[in-house]
Amino acid sequence: MLDSYVNESMLMRAQEKKLLKIETHDLRDFSGDKHHKVDDRQYGGGPGMVLKAEPIYKAVKKIAKKNARVILLSATGKKFDVKAAKRLSTYSQLVFVCGRYEGVDERVAKYIADEELSIGDYVLTGGELPAMVIIDAVSRHILGVLGKQESLEENRLDVGVPVYTRPESMVIDKKKRTVPPVLLSGDHKKIKEWRKKARKK
Ligand code: SAM
Repeated sequence: MLDSYVNESMLMRAQEKKLLKIETHDLRDFSGDKHHKVDDRQYGGGPGMVLKAEPIYKAVKKIAKKNARVILLSATGKKFDVKAAKRLSTYSQLVFVCGRYEGVDERVAKYIADEELSIGDYVLTGGELPAMVIIDAVSRHILGVLGKQESLEENRLDVGVPVYTRPESMVIDKKKRTVPPVLLSGDHKKIKEWRKKARKK
């Protein structure tokens, strides 16, 4: 799931340039159980399986180097935002623990992870997509990851400004839809004013 995304486009180029390295690990390799079991029923009863703390503990001990930041993906964690992305980009290593099923044994949040992060107020099936979202957003803050043509929109004032490209005019549902004429005017002062007004946030 993760490998196909991180081996494409910006993240692939960044890895080729050795600006970052993204590795995935299978929790089953740390189960210590002959069936490679990593989940079990929850104490106290209730539906769904819970990811066991022991394999996660073993995995983190093996994978996390000194000064690593261990992040547990959780629907109820602190909301991830651009400030968190900048902060996380200063660590030499991030270790993401991706939950599944009914969640993760609470001892991971309490004693193994350094922080719990959520990517939004909704529940996803697993922590893999949230980890990917965070990896992508954090990578943008590592110097050299974005090419010369791209830019860190998060630092620009014009983020949220509508953009258009060719053709100048096209038909959508039988109606002619055109690019705002000011953008074709060549008048940079007027374009700047229009962009300021048209900004969505
Ligand atoms: N019962 C759990 C709860 O109440 O928090 C939900 C478990 S969810 C089905 C399975 C896993 O997906 C979670 O352990 C977490 O790792 C991940 N996950 C789901 N929604 C998430 C979100 N909004 N942000 C980050 N991780 C999320």
